[in-house]
Amino acid sequence: MINQTPPDLHAGVKILHDPVRNKGTAYTEAERDALKLRGLLPPRVHTMAEQELRVLGNIRAKPTDLERYLYLIALQDRNENLFYRVIMNHLEEMMPIIYTPTVGKACQEFQHIYRKPRGFYVSLQDKGRVKEIMQNWPHKDARIIVVTDGERILGLGDLGADGMGIPIGKLALYTACAGIHPTQCMPVMLDVGTNNEKLLNDPLYNGLERRRVRGKEYDELFDEFVTAAKELFPGVLIQIEDFGNTNAFRLLDQYRGNTCLFDDDIQGTGAVAVAGIIAAMRITGGKLSEQKILFLGAGEAGIGIADVFVAALKEDGMSDREARHHCWFVDSKGLLVADRDNMAAHKKPYAHKHEAITEFADAVKTLEPTAILGLSGQPGTFTRNVVETMAKINQRPIIFALSNPTSQAECTAEQAYTWSDGRAIFASGSPFDPVKIGNQLFVPGQGNNAYIFPGVGLGVIVSRSRVVTDDMFLAAAHSLANQVTEADLERGRVYPALSLIRQVSALIAMDVAKIAYDNGYTDRAEPDDILADVHEHMYKPVYPHYA
Ligand code: NAD
Repeated sequence: MINQTPPDLHAGVKILHDPVRNKGTAYTEAERDALKLRGLLPPRVHTMAEQELRVLGNIRAKPTDLERYLYLIALQDRNENLFYRVIMNHLEEMMPIIYTPTVGKACQEFQHIYRKPRGFYVSLQDKGRVKEIMQNWPHKDARIIVVTDGERILGLGDLGADGMGIPIGKLALYTACAGIHPTQCMPVMLDVGTNNEKLLNDPLYNGLERRRVRGKEYDELFDEFVTAAKELFPGVLIQIEDFGNTNAFRLLDQYRGNTCLFDDDIQGTGAVAVAGIIAAMRITGGKLSEQKILFLGAGEAGIGIADVFVAALKEDGMSDREARHHCWFVDSKGLLVADRDNMAAHKKPYAHKHEAITEFADAVKTLEPTAILGLSGQPGTFTRNVVETMAKINQRPIIFALSNPTSQAECTAEQAYTWSDGRAIFASGSPFDPVKIGNQLFVPGQGNNAYIFPGVGLGVIVSRSRVVTDDMFLAAAHSLANQVTEADLERGRVYPALSLIRQVSALIAMDVAKIAYDNGYTDRAEPDDILADVHEHMYKPVYPHYA
């Protein structure tokens, strides 16, 4: 539980400007006397529910999602408990505003909409004194850091220091979806420059006016940051987010063994997609070991999914080599084959001996996969021909068009259902509306990473695990798949309703924590009831009483 330091009873107006303790018009009569707030607030005392109504009215009256985002961020800066109450009670409505797709727009506009600092900036200028400056962070019990270097923000590319919106948004989801206390969350922007000309030429850009550094200087800054974080906040979980391909795979490999660190773009995506495939087996009646997956896109997301899928097959007794042969990739150069030149290291384990194939549709015909997963960011690439071929090969083809945002999806939900005569098991990265074909209603599942990372993070910090392991992501995938109901499956949905996310996260956290206790990844004693222990750690957006 959080130990909040007692408020300074003579602080008066100060408490109204402290987002952690501010209650706005909800201070009771007694609190107004005790905290010397008389006259500083309008006389009527409101309940939190009434305040929530006011906020909702304001949000819904805004003309654009970016305006809604700005309103919500201002609320977060003013009154965190109320912000989280609104987000949690209206998660499906608010998630696309505080996170993708609106957060992407906000990052693109960051230098123009900037009002107030939030999060923590570590830049090249701080080299040599990173630990010293990190002591400026006001909360001393940081448990989760989400850090980006802004190189590959969502599907938007290099946004430099303007990428700060991503760690802020992601940590808001940690709190909303899994109840990590807001004061235990630290968003960090590692400013190593940007190669985005538009930003470099914009006088309002907030980041360093220089091109990205690579190599030794970059590595030294990253290492100094990780070392400082571990020293200042012992046991802190570090999530690396939206790093470019080379740095993401490399840093993950380098640090995961000795630091409590993971990459959501790789591992979280892996777990959420594999959960969808496991759940799909309950519809098809098939086994994981009978699946052959053809990926379109061999970046962080595609490789991350393949790695978790391979782990799932190995758990069932398959060899590593055989398991990898169940995963095939087509990227921008065509089918990934063993004799390709200049292949990135992360692709090599999935480059099989095969003749070269350029077109995805031809690869589908030749390889006859049971599932196609789109992670290419290229809309329209699951063509009618591709979907019809999948439906010819499979009674229930698995078709996941996972590229974000919705406009980039490899096909739409309607196309997948229509072109497969309603037989496709479809999921997407961004939400699609339900589709009606004849009398049948199909509800597409959304393979949102928010089903996974908050629960994994909660399990790790509650158990005080020293590491985040592949086993934990596989366990999270199974846990998520187990929470899909028969009613979900009947409508074709391979994920639970987003509204159940706190329950989903708690159960994932329980399974993740169990792995930490069973494997000695923690010095904390295993509690009698892990789920109850998890629930006890979960933040609830209620006001404390000050008098
Ligand atoms: P990335 O840049 O690391 O990889 C993109 C891959 O697509 C590369 O391998 C590239 O070669 C390939 N590609 C590009 N153009 C292609 C083409 N015309 N044909 C075939 N392949 C092509 O990006 P990433 O992090 O792997 O993300 C990829 C997509 O997945 C993004 O749209 C992202 O939004 C989405 N994504 C979805 C989820 C989710 O649904 N939960 C999670 C993470 C990422």
